[in-house]
Amino acid sequence: MNYRPLCRNCGRTIHRVFRYLHFGQRAAARYHRSWSFQDFPDSIAEVERLAEGTVLSVEWVSDIEHWIKRAVVWDGEYTSPYFCGRGCAQLFGYHQAATGAATDMHAEAVMRQRAKLDEQQLRRRRKARRSA
Ligand SMILES: [Zn+2]
Repeated sequence: MNYRPLCRNCGRTIHRVFRYLHFGQRAAARYHRSWSFQDFPDSIAEVERLAEGTVLSVEWVSDIEHWIKRAVVWDGEYTSPYFCGRGCAQLFGYHQAATGAATDMHAEAVMRQRAKLDEQQLRRRRKARRSA
């Protein structure tokens, strides 16, 4: 088993994004994370072929035949590569800002602000000189 990414803020495991497959449906359809199939798969290998991903769990049905009704598939995707949720991402941002970290956009904005203030001071000094 591969190491799962841990939240950079709290250290908890980051959730995987699952896909849910439903078999024996009237019509085949693909919605965001829910795929429907008309097939009645009778093996995990068949579910894997239909799923195009790693099958994590299946739910069997035994009526006239033994077949798989539902399956959970994982495509190797996580909810985020760095954080368990928005709250942790936000907290991490505050901690980083407190240590002095900033983006290039911030650095450029600070430069513009300083240039503007310098220009204003220069103008004020010239004006004071003229009126003296
Ligand atoms: Zn977290």
